[in-house]
Amino acid sequence: MCQQCNYTELLARAGLEATGHRLRVLEVIGDNTCPLSAQEIFDTVRRSRPINRVTVYRVLEMLVQGGLVDRLSSGGRAFFYGLAPNRLHAPHPHFFCRRCGRMDCLRPDSIALDLKKLQRVFPGQIENVEVRVDGICRKCLQK
Ligand SMILES: [Zn+2]
Ligand SMILES: [Zn+2]
Ligand SMILES: [Zn+2]
Repeated sequence: MCQQCNYTELLARAGLEATGHRLRVLEVIGDNTCPLSAQEIFDTVRRSRPINRVTVYRVLEMLVQGGLVDRLSSGGRAFFYGLAPNRLHAPHPHFFCRRCGRMDCLRPDSIALDLKKLQRVFPGQIENVEVRVDGICRKCLQK
């Protein structure tokens, strides 16, 4: 479990009851240093409790709707799930390796985003910005 985040409290603040399944899915996502696919989350959760795939997918959907988890696009058919930015976690860009298909978190300060400037040139209301950098990761480059 992330040393800082209180997942029960995060669920409560999103108006969601802290059931065992929801807590476990949130913990698995929060524990990991990079975003996970739904399959990876399912595989990890079922190691510690009996649960079926449909339930995990339903919980994921609920956590995304509740704003606790972000669904990150790889640009293709794959999606990844990471903890949504909160009081303790700043928004940050992600890196997608198009060779091994893994997604990594980049440091929040690795790309400077000037939202104020963006808001000046864009007449609508900006609610969320997702930045994904694509390329080939270091591990794949070394192969
Ligand atoms: Zn945390
Ligand atoms: Zn790679
Ligand atoms: Zn991330």
